[in-house]
Amino acid sequence: MNVREVTANPRNRCYRCLLEEIDPASYERDIKRVLNMMSPGEKVQDHIYEMRLDTCRACEYLNNGTCTACGCFVELRAAVHSSRCPYKNW
Ligand code: SF4
Repeated sequence: MNVREVTANPRNRCYRCLLEEIDPASYERDIKRVLNMMSPGEKVQDHIYEMRLDTCRACEYLNNGTCTACGCFVELRAAVHSSRCPYKNW
């Protein structure tokens, strides 16, 4: 199962978008669950993933794990080989 298949399944969609209501442990667990479901060919190498996350950490658009420029969960977007930062920071 790839990320598109995961997000296309209505049962995998998030209907609770207020971050203050999300249990941080649950959020982290869900991110890791989706990362683990991605195929190796779909993901970037670890050092590229960390470089992308470092860039997001320093970015003014990062807010609680979400990119406010595009609305993505950066820990997922940064892992996908074909994904790009909306402002071309990576
Ligand atoms: S994806 Fe780009 S714009 Fe969004 S937080 Fe990361 S560096 Fe910033």
